[in-house]
Amino acid sequence: MRWKDRRQSVNVVDRRGAGGTIGIGGLIIGALVYYFMGGNPNDYVAQNAGNKQQQQVKPTDDNGRKFAAVILADTEDVWNDVFKTNGIIYQEPRLVLFTNLVQSSCGRAKSAVGPFYCPQDQQVYLDLGFFDQLSKSLAAEGDFAVAYVIAHEVGHHVQNLLGVEASFLEKQSIAGPRERNSLSIKMELQADCLAGVWAKLTDQEKNILEEGDIEEALNAASAVGDDRLQKAGGREVVPDSFTHGTSAQRVDAFKTGYRSGQTKDCLNTYK
Ligand SMILES: [Zn+2]
Repeated sequence: MRWKDRRQSVNVVDRRGAGGTIGIGGLIIGALVYYFMGGNPNDYVAQNAGNKQQQQVKPTDDNGRKFAAVILADTEDVWNDVFKTNGIIYQEPRLVLFTNLVQSSCGRAKSAVGPFYCPQDQQVYLDLGFFDQLSKSLAAEGDFAVAYVIAHEVGHHVQNLLGVEASFLEKQSIAGPRERNSLSIKMELQADCLAGVWAKLTDQEKNILEEGDIEEALNAASAVGDDRLQKAGGREVVPDSFTHGTSAQRVDAFKTGYRSGQTKDCLNTYK
């Protein structure tokens, strides 16, 4: 996808280098593999963090930061427009870049939990090292996978602003365990659908994508673990139960938004 020389958002907060010094790359891949074998990635990280050689991640002003800022700007352009059309003001979220460990209003989170959105402070949290690892397994289409993940997180912000998140949480509070899980999946699929709306409208305006990019990137991106963090009793957040839906469901959800570019299709299909 084309992204160089485009507008970069001013809402990127760079907190890289502010955290610890644990090398995360191997841990993330290890945790993903462990997850696909049926384990809880946090267990893997807890077991292996102490064994890994420590390595400093350099907080340089790199292409990763610029890319994230361009994609965030794309989401601002799309959602400012969509909200304005509906007579609402879009409050732009901030994107916090970090390494290893970050403190959010939702609690403290390690890189290994993957990118996430915290509704309490309306910020998306992202460790670019996570994407380095993701991109390596993706060849040329890797950049779209990264863009999709950012757009998915911003989708959670849109859900928050529209009150959809609150209504999901209310339904969950009175639901049984199985229904709770299914509501959780719907909320994730809706965020995928909103990412599809973003892709469609951005592409319409700026011509950045080719159809072939999409499934490949989505399949790879669906390997990213859960990003919905729950506030735990203690100081650390815990990821909930990896309920994003299957890859096929996620591709479907993305395409629902991508086909029409209509936010209402996402709100109606996944509720
Ligand atoms: Zn999500």
